[in-house]
Amino acid sequence: MKWPDLPSPCYVVDEALIEKNLKVLQGVMERTGARILLAQKAFSMYELYPLIGEYLCGATASGLYEARLCAEEMAAVSAAGGRSCENHVFSPAYREEDFGEILKYCDHIVFNSRAQAEKFGGRAKAAGKSVGLRINPECSTQEGHAIYDPCAPGSRLGVTRGNLGEEREDGLWSLLDGLHFHTLCEQDSDALEKTLDAVEERFGEYLPGMKWINFGGGHHITREGYDIPRLERCIRRMQEKYGLTVYLEPGEAVALNAGFLVTEVLEVQESVWPESEEGNVCNVIVDTSAACHMPDVLEMPYRPPLQGSGQPGEKKLTYRLGGPTCLAGDVIGTYSFEEPLAEGDRLVFEDMAIYSMVKNNTFNGMPLPALVLRNRDGEYRVVKRFGYEDFKGRLGRL
Ligand SMILES: *Cc1c(COP(=O)(O)O)cnc(C)c1O
Repeated sequence: MKWPDLPSPCYVVDEALIEKNLKVLQGVMERTGARILLAQKAFSMYELYPLIGEYLCGATASGLYEARLCAEEMAAVSAAGGRSCENHVFSPAYREEDFGEILKYCDHIVFNSRAQAEKFGGRAKAAGKSVGLRINPECSTQEGHAIYDPCAPGSRLGVTRGNLGEEREDGLWSLLDGLHFHTLCEQDSDALEKTLDAVEERFGEYLPGMKWINFGGGHHITREGYDIPRLERCIRRMQEKYGLTVYLEPGEAVALNAGFLVTEVLEVQESVWPESEEGNVCNVIVDTSAACHMPDVLEMPYRPPLQGSGQPGEKKLTYRLGGPTCLAGDVIGTYSFEEPLAEGDRLVFEDMAIYSMVKNNTFNGMPLPALVLRNRDGEYRVVKRFGYEDFKGRLGRL
């Protein structure tokens, strides 16, 4: 099967590119002894969980369903292969009816508040689980994206030092095995270093009593130019100073630049908008939607890389690519090409493995893109096709 024969739209995830990322993460683990987990919320294409489980120490979940997915698709395979696989979970608040099942799947359970830890922590401990508390070091290191900043003022994520209270000998501390923070988003290790300063300043007195610390996600470790030696110094600092086991739970870094979204041109509109600041721009409708299939394009917002294209005006012809939904703002971005686009052309967006299929929706009755795996031999295999049932099934009885 070749690109032109793939169903459109479809996500293509490249096993060799995932493995390349996993080897970078494995290097960090081997050199430092840190334990790295997959944050499933960024990438949950479980066809690749057996491979990921060969390299990483396990996965982390945002709640019951992701925890169960790890148990079924990663931990079970690892166990059959004689390997261990950790299953961590963090949720801003657990539901009473879910908690028993969470205890069945997870070995590390992280709470977001003193009250949540006091409500569920005893049961977790009695079940032999390792218990953690998410702290908020109140150290914003990112600009512009308040929606992705857990340290933004008024955040509901993590306990601040002020909200922890002064009592050190109360029941909470006898429950805790570890502390967890997650404050970064697509950042380098200088931001982590700064965050660790804040963690030590505010929570340093608690660290010697802990078994582990979890640095959360947002570390762009597999991005070209990321400062890995500095990350490793950060890890060793916590290991050597406090005797802690260090966990990292990147999502993006596991599947960064390892996936594509293939789409087909449905129409090149004839009307031209000469007044646009991008020059003469034609609208092109493709069979994939920013709103449904790459929502971060609108949320972040960002312009996804597109193979063979240039910046607006850079190449001969400039087109604005939009989806077939009714949303006026369902625009993927403006790109230029040397050759004119035509109906039936295939376009390939890059870096589409992360925060894409996990965020899909069927707004406007849009079909979900098929899932395709390109294996290490370069062969394509359609893992899953979606249809009308997947749209209807979420809206009522099926
Ligand atoms: C989102 C998140 C992650 C993963 O973040 P990436 O930016 O994908 O690396 C890890 N841990 C927690 C608690 C998160 O909320």
